[in-house]
Amino acid sequence: MRKVSIFGSTGSIGCNTVDLVKRKPEAYRVVAMTGGRNVAKLASQAKALKAEVAVTAYEDCLEPLREALSGSGIEVAAGEAALCEAAERPADWIMSAIVGAAGLPPGLKALEQGTTLALANKESLVTAGALLKSTAAASGARILPVDSEHSAVFQGLVGENIADVERVIITASGGAFRDWPLEKLAAATPAEASSHPNWDMGQRITIDSATMFNKALELIETHEFFDISPDRIEAIVHPESLVHALVGFRDGALMAHVGPPDMRHAIGYALNWPLRDHLPVERLNLAEIGQLTFREPDAARYPALAQARWVMEEGGLAGAVFNAAKERALDGFIEGRIGFLDMASVVADVIEIMSGEGLGLAAITLDSVQQADQEARMRADAVIAVRQR
Ligand code: NDP
Repeated sequence: MRKVSIFGSTGSIGCNTVDLVKRKPEAYRVVAMTGGRNVAKLASQAKALKAEVAVTAYEDCLEPLREALSGSGIEVAAGEAALCEAAERPADWIMSAIVGAAGLPPGLKALEQGTTLALANKESLVTAGALLKSTAAASGARILPVDSEHSAVFQGLVGENIADVERVIITASGGAFRDWPLEKLAAATPAEASSHPNWDMGQRITIDSATMFNKALELIETHEFFDISPDRIEAIVHPESLVHALVGFRDGALMAHVGPPDMRHAIGYALNWPLRDHLPVERLNLAEIGQLTFREPDAARYPALAQARWVMEEGGLAGAVFNAAKERALDGFIEGRIGFLDMASVVADVIEIMSGEGLGLAAITLDSVQQADQEARMRADAVIAVRQR
């Protein structure tokens, strides 16, 4: 039996992971499951999968969690340190599906133990790619991509030589507002931005799809994960969300990964890697689909893409600053303090304020990343306070 842990089990990726693990009770023993405020869901998942320990990120959720699991024999714990301790428990495979920069410390702990890390939490690579990779190299741990685009590239590279790769193209649905007139975007509401045309995901990544901050993070993630230079990484709008990524080789061949918009594919690939197993995902009928369309992303509609280019060129702590400013701008939008278009402007202002601080030259340690993250959040809050409507 393989020992697995699911971090962020109560979220969208977490629930899809639970679904796959639950289908094969004979194959997995569940060590840790973690969540945030959704204590009822965490408790019912932990009972269903007979987890060793259930951890909530928040101290004030500990008592409700303890109560919900009383008599089950499942250990309970709460807080950031408890998340890291849970990541240190011996396991063969850990799903990293906490949302945001909070996913980094437990991910690092898992890698230090040599545990295979299935990485949905793209923010870890964006904020601390070098640290994550050196930690994995030191312990011999494997990082497997879970983002659908990166899983697609990863699959496209099986048996290939990375030196033969000429370009990588990741696709973007274009998000909730891809066909809205530009002048309407300023008034777009969080509820409108939270409805994705193709994918069923958590609220934060869904809004990040509408701004393409999600795609911006994924460009950086591609650069970090595959060590491919920024000039060879492209994003293209593909409204059908069926082609997830394409890898172009030096002989001109372009290998595309095609599949339904169902995250259980990428999660299942990482869970079964290096083998393949049956997955309960839809089989595409290409004749019914009829056509696949692609178009260039509009730079005016999606300023986040140019910001990602800056991050990749700058390197160092630029990713931590970009991600933190983006997270605070997103909070500001969700809370109704700033408008939809203000999110990219807040990030641009923070980049401008902090770009003279030698970010690219700084050493990447957990401390330096967390410091840059905190400073960028403070700067973003100050910018938001000025812009607040
Ligand atoms: P959700 O918002 O649906 O779930 C997030 C999970 O993280 C929940 O379990 C939540 O707990 C927990 N959580 C929230 N805040 C904290 C915190 N401060 N500390 C610890 N845990 C916390 O997110 P998604 O599942 O959509 O996304 C998870 C990650 O996967 C993100 O990094 C995202 O970018 C990435 N991803 C998601 C995809 C998708 O299809 N959803 C696709 C590709 C990548 P609770 O709900 O109990 O409060």
